[in-house]
Amino acid sequence: MRNLWINPGRAVLIGALLPLSVVPQLLAPELFRRIIDSSTFTAPSSSTWPLAVGYLLLALVGQGLTLGLTYLTTRLAATATTQLREELVEHALRQEPAFFRRFTPGELVERVDGDSGRLGEIVSGVLVDIVAQLLLAVGVIAALFYLDWRFGLLFTPFAIAMATLLSRQTGRALPHVAAERKIEAEVVGFIDEQVSGADDIRANGATPAVRQSLWALLDTSSEKGRRAAEMSARWPATIQGLSALSVVAALALGGWLHSMGLATVGTVFAALSYATLIRFPLARLTLRIQDVENAAVSLHRLDELRLMETRVDDGPTTLRPDDSAVVFDDVSFAYEGGPEVLSGLSFRLPTGQTMAVVGQTGSGKSTLLGLLFRRFDPTRGTIRIGGQDLRDLNVRALRDRVTYIPQSGRLLATTVRNNVALFDERVNDLRVESALRTVGLGPWLDQLPMGLDTALKPQDAPMSLGQTQLLNLARALITEPSVVLLDEPSAMLDPHTERHLKLALARFLRGRTAIVVSHRLDILDGVDWVLVLDDGRAAEFGERSVLAAEPASRFNTLTAVGRSPS
Ligand code: ATP
Ligand code: MG
Repeated sequence: MRNLWINPGRAVLIGALLPLSVVPQLLAPELFRRIIDSSTFTAPSSSTWPLAVGYLLLALVGQGLTLGLTYLTTRLAATATTQLREELVEHALRQEPAFFRRFTPGELVERVDGDSGRLGEIVSGVLVDIVAQLLLAVGVIAALFYLDWRFGLLFTPFAIAMATLLSRQTGRALPHVAAERKIEAEVVGFIDEQVSGADDIRANGATPAVRQSLWALLDTSSEKGRRAAEMSARWPATIQGLSALSVVAALALGGWLHSMGLATVGTVFAALSYATLIRFPLARLTLRIQDVENAAVSLHRLDELRLMETRVDDGPTTLRPDDSAVVFDDVSFAYEGGPEVLSGLSFRLPTGQTMAVVGQTGSGKSTLLGLLFRRFDPTRGTIRIGGQDLRDLNVRALRDRVTYIPQSGRLLATTVRNNVALFDERVNDLRVESALRTVGLGPWLDQLPMGLDTALKPQDAPMSLGQTQLLNLARALITEPSVVLLDEPSAMLDPHTERHLKLALARFLRGRTAIVVSHRLDILDGVDWVLVLDDGRAAEFGERSVLAAEPASRFNTLTAVGRSPS
């Protein structure tokens, strides 16, 4: 990932305007001194008016510069943040399942949206402001020297003391701010997950338990927030005290100089103005450095996100067009830190033939498909398609040739067309429509208010679970794969719809190598091979006709109980 992208032209312009923007503030007390010293107590002298007009102009120019700077920095931040968000989302989309087990949706939102926004603010206001305030602080000291070297001498140690305090205290609040941010992300994640499951929670009477967990989380969150605020507040409080002291010092020195005839009233007034003025850049700096602390936390968290690469290693080769036989050679697999879910699995499925995978819940059927799609790699053994080790294949090229419809397909918040074609513009409307009709969604499509352009929102295009499943299958039908992996394609369908689908699927799978996982054995009537999985092991593998003819086969036992009554 590149760093924050900054428009160089705008950055240069900001750099030029920045020093100019502090000049009006620095000149104002000096103008006041001249105005005061040029007047008598009864009437302003003739030279007072131009000075007063000068002051007015100065104020106007100052405002103009501030406006211009704000505009420029906001624009700068907007482009930088958008760029950053784009890159983060792109990064997340490239990742494998392990990434999404590590970062929950809520956490991802907080990082991609919250943290990058905070970094954007840093670019827009904070860094620019820090430079401006530093310039102002140095300018004030210089102006005090210009006024009278004794003022300069008095205030230099003050400023140095404050600067030392600043640097010493930087980072004190950091761990507390990080802890607060982490718990905030947890709260967002928790709410996000509970809201998506709201119906189930209500139906199961789990609302009080969820509420209690949320209260506990919020309790911790407010405690951490209080601690972070406390740590962050100490610093500005100290500085405020010091600044008040500086005003007293300016008054004392000014009064003494005046009584000795060494300073005019105007000079004392100007010194007092500068002494008051120096509080602002210093107090502001303290606040800004807190923002930088926050941004440092954000940066760290974004780094964590973007440094987590869960991509499977890419190989150079692509699949051969004519050979797509699937071979498992003594394959074992365990999820991160978990027990083995597939053990010593071996089978060979010839090109263009179909295989059913059956077995009890949790026996590893979906895992087997995931391995073939390279969502993860085996812990032992080799998987080959067309004689080539999957690990040597280019992942993108592999996935172009393998269509995988997972068990729980998700709908996207976009049009029907995009849900089927998955944003592939090469797929024309005719194909999308025909795929929908083939799976049996014709009548559903016909009553949509805007046809393929209808957004898949519950209010415009409500979908049952079965319809969702059919739409997922339509996604497969518009592809031209060599290998098809279907996980429970008909689990949510009624027997009538299932029969209709069976024909459509048989047509689609003709000539392709396919693995179909299903508990519903009707849909498997036409398959060539059967693999019975039992707790991650191949309990049985063979041609369907052979296994079906053998009364004692596991397949036959399963068929006897599994065939749906229709
Ligand atoms: P079902 O018929 O319910 O779909 P299945 O045969 O498809 O079951 P798998 O989803 O492959 O079963 O799961 C096999 C085993 O792996 C189960 O014990 C499950 O708990 C475990 N498992 C599945 N997914 C994960 C995961 N992401 N992380 C850790 N363990 C997992
Ligand atoms: Mg499964």
